[in-house]
Parts: sequence; C-alpha cells; structure tokens
Amino acid sequence: MAVGITFYGATDTVTGSRHLLRAGDHQVLVDCGLFQGPREIKERNWRPFPVPVHDINSIVLTHAHLDHTGFLPRLVKDGYRGPVHCTAATKNLLGIMLRDSARLQVEEAEHANRHRWSRHTPAAPLYDEEDVERCLKYLEPHSYGEAFDPVPTTRMHFLRAGHILGSAFAMTETEAGSVLFGGDLGRYGQRIIPDPTPVAKADYLLLESTYGDRDHEDVDVLSALEGVVRHAIANRGWVLIPSFAIGRTQEVLYLLHELREAGRIPSLPIYIDSPMATSAIPLFAQHTEDHDFEMTALMDSNRCPFEGPGVRYTHSREESKAINDHEGPGVIIAGSGMANGGRIRHHLLNRISDGRNTVLFVGYQGVGTPGRAILDGVENFRAFGWEVPIRARIVKIDALSAHADRGEIMRWLADFQAPPRRTFLVHGEPEARSALQAKITAELNWTVTCPAMGDNYRL
Ligand SMILES: [Zn+2]
Repeated sequence: MAVGITFYGATDTVTGSRHLLRAGDHQVLVDCGLFQGPREIKERNWRPFPVPVHDINSIVLTHAHLDHTGFLPRLVKDGYRGPVHCTAATKNLLGIMLRDSARLQVEEAEHANRHRWSRHTPAAPLYDEEDVERCLKYLEPHSYGEAFDPVPTTRMHFLRAGHILGSAFAMTETEAGSVLFGGDLGRYGQRIIPDPTPVAKADYLLLESTYGDRDHEDVDVLSALEGVVRHAIANRGWVLIPSFAIGRTQEVLYLLHELREAGRIPSLPIYIDSPMATSAIPLFAQHTEDHDFEMTALMDSNRCPFEGPGVRYTHSREESKAINDHEGPGVIIAGSGMANGGRIRHHLLNRISDGRNTVLFVGYQGVGTPGRAILDGVENFRAFGWEVPIRARIVKIDALSAHADRGEIMRWLADFQAPPRRTFLVHGEPEARSALQAKITAELNWTVTCPAMGDNYRL
C-alpha cells in the first residue's frame, strides 16, 4: 500500500498548516489552518482547496490555534462531512476560536463592501457563524494516549506538545512506518501545562521551525515581568500587553498571580480586555488533564491563578472604553497578539504616546504586522485612520513565547534514540527553516527536508 505525505501549507510561512497523509485509498488531512498575515498570504485562503473535499476521509487537528484549524469551517461549508479528531481541550477551545474567526471573516467582508475593495462583488466571508456551528458537530475528542483510527489503514494517538492547552503531537502508525505530526512544539517550564512529551522513535517527523534560527533570550520571565510592572508602578504608567487570547493571556495572568503571591508586586488593577480570553478562562480551569504539577496544586488549594485582587474582566465595549478614564498604574491585556486587530489597538492609540507607559510583547510578531513594526522602531502607530507618535517604552519578553526556540527544539530531538528516516521542516519563515535544517544536519546528521507547497513524498 502506498503511503505518502503532501504539503499544502506552512511551507514558506508560519501559517496555513495543512498536511495530507495518503494511505492507500484513504486520505487524512492533518491540521486545516488558515493563512494569516499580509494580504498576499491571506489571499491563499481563497484558492481552491488542492484536494477535492469529498476525497478527504478524516481530519486530525494538533491544537486549536487558527493557523492550524481556521480553515475547517470552510471545508465543511464546501462539503466535508467526515470526523475531525482532536483532544478534548482543543474541541472546547475551538468553540470559542472558530466563532470568533467567523465574526472577523464577516466583519472583513462587510468592511470590504463598504470600501469597495472586494475581489468578489459583493465581498463574501470565507465562512460565517452558521458554518462554524455546523463544523463543530464533527469534532471528536480523544484523551492523550487513546488510540483511534482516523481511517482503517492508520492508527493514531495524541501526545502532549506543551504548546497551549490541549496541544498535541499526532503519532501515526502506517504500513510504511510511524509518522509523528509535530504540530507546534511547546516550551519547557511553561506555566499551567506540562512540558512536551519526549519521543524516542518515529520513522518520519514533521517539525515546526518558527524559531529555528534563534534562541529566546535567556531571561527569567518572572523577574522580567516583575521589572516591567515595577517600572510602571514607579512611573504611575500602564503596561499594555498585546496578547493572544488563548495561552499567552492565561500564562501572563498566572505569572502576575505568582509575583503577587510571592509579595514581589503589590495588587494593582489588571484588566483582561478580551472577550475571547475571558471565555477561555473556565476551560483553562476545567481541563485538569492538561495541568502541570504546580497548576494542579494551585487549583487543589483554591488559589486559582486567574483571579485575585485587582483582576478585572471587561465584557462590553462600554466597559472597555471606561478603562480610558483610569489613572495608572495598571496592566491591560488585550488582543490581538500582533496588534493587527482587537481592542489593544484602541489602548495603543490612547496610551502609546505617553512616555510613562510600556508596551510589552509576549509572543511572536509576524512580518508585516503592527506589532513587528513597533518592535522594529517605527515612529508612529496607526489604527482606525489615526496616527500617533510612539513614546512609550517598548519591551519584549521573548521567553514568554509558546514556541520552542532553537535550543529547545534540539533538546527535544535529543530524546530520539534513532534518527527518523526523514524529518520534514514546516511552519517557519524561509531563513528560520533553512537555518534549522543546517543545524540538525550538522549536529545530528539527520536527513532533513524543507518541502515546498504541493510537494509530495512517498514514505
Ligand atoms: Zn500554535
């Protein structure tokens, strides 16, 4: 039986993960990601899906991030009716993330129609909330380690990837050997969730390379965050944190809780101004199978790290706007993580010109995003037709990323007892990916391939 993999996304960028496993007559799509970022990348979402939808028998999702899942409602809209396998936390997180994604798609289409930018007339969303409701019904949750057969010719189980709540590697047994779909590789020592599971053997490995050419700064995140908050307190300023709603926001809250419990910072107002982050909080508390030792201990002793004096969750636009009336010091955590959408843009417009304030980046800033531009030192911030000078302190704590850096990738690979027959690098910008290819080849002498869009490999 012929077994092969074709790469349909995340080959030259960090978004749009879509890998097709062919085993005989069966086809399993592993991850079904949205292309995100600059317009020329987003355009790819509108190309016809490279495989007829009815030829896909099963879908497997490694974790809930939209660059791995956000195209799913479109596939269902186009006729996909098979199972979608994922972990229990991923299933629940998707209820929040895909609904939010649909809302953004609809808003974007309406905006395009108002400004006549449309490539269709009238502009249509990729999918809407109805499509999402339909697609959520196909999600089939699995525990870590539980075997399931996405198609009769392959068997899979999930292993913890340590990236975000519910994140997994999909270990796949095929007639041509085992294939580990790595999804996104997490960090060692992240709060809330356990470390990535060590893997000793896989015949084929798909590995992400977001930070393939870099190490996160070797800083103690707790001390770094303490420094930023103390600086804000001393200046009566605000700390503005553009943050991904799922993962970073909860980890930052956890760290602030840790600092407060240790008496290293006083209680101060901490606004979580992200409806999506807020609705994910109960899931982070509920999915105890995803908790590490310390998180379990906190929850067991009723010290939920997402609550505490000063922690306020805002819901309505009015509540969000009301934050403007408050004097510092304080912390505002709001989406989106790269400042290209969401409520953080309002807070940046309001406060980025005040030298007492700090903008703190806690995640990866993609090329072409406002977040990357601010980090690169542009003079002005623009949003909603306004432009204001940047005078706030700009800080980034790279070590708060949810992605393994180069050193951590190598650390995780070191657990392999034998080299995979072939390692495929995906999910990285070209420089990062080729740097990692060179490093793994030089240090481990593995066979490493950087597939291009549409490349097909027989296993
Ligand atoms: Zn991810």
